[in-house]
Amino acid sequence: MQLAEIAAGQTETELVYLREMDSRKLEVKVLKVVPEKRTHAYLILDRTIFHPKGGGQPSDRGIIRAPGYEVVVKKAIYHNGVVVHWGKLNLGAPSEGDATCEIDWEYRHLVMRRHTSAHLLDHCLAEVTSRRVETTESWLDDPCYVGYAGSPPDAQTLRKTEDLANRMIEPGGEVKIEFLKREVARRLLQNAPNYERLPDLPEIRTVTIKGCKPIPCGGTHVSDLAEIGKISVVRAEQMPNESFRLHFSVGASASST
Ligand SMILES: [Zn+2]
Repeated sequence: MQLAEIAAGQTETELVYLREMDSRKLEVKVLKVVPEKRTHAYLILDRTIFHPKGGGQPSDRGIIRAPGYEVVVKKAIYHNGVVVHWGKLNLGAPSEGDATCEIDWEYRHLVMRRHTSAHLLDHCLAEVTSRRVETTESWLDDPCYVGYAGSPPDAQTLRKTEDLANRMIEPGGEVKIEFLKREVARRLLQNAPNYERLPDLPEIRTVTIKGCKPIPCGGTHVSDLAEIGKISVVRAEQMPNESFRLHFSVGASASST
């Protein structure tokens, strides 16, 4: 069955992860179940903590369970405001009604650290090169990178960018999420790296890392820079169409090991 057919006529899913990024477990109502063969199923919930694949962020994984069944969620897919959860039946068969969802927190937290790092690298690269940067893409699973317009920076620029990012991480700093009216957001975000890709919504969600300008984003981030640990800029990869990918990784900080 096509995704559009599964999601058709369903009310929009409440995206709990937009406001509660640290929520690992949530009581939900299963609104629709579409079995796939005898081994898998698609589930639509009233609300969710599963971040679907999008904006460079890979889908959350986890479990939806209720007495009598358990579904191992392999991916969450966004379709016209509805999040469709696809997974493998581990026990029993899912049905409509009350259930509990739980995300794979270890993986999600890694993605949150990488996602916040990507924004921090935008800021640091702009600072080091004294130029506005334009992000073209990002991917926060493996390989992990953020893409920019222009030619790849030299090795010294990469090292300075990495150093600056780690100097900002070390003392820690708040990562603040706000929901702003579109007119307010428009004034505030004009030079944001991904401003051109902003959806036309009445309310814009912004993320502000301490020491950086606010940026529009619908993803999940850590609430303090210190959670990132340490950023390593691995390499810059030349891409077609005058762009490059900055590959990076996050690891435990020297002080936390
Ligand atoms: Zn973000």
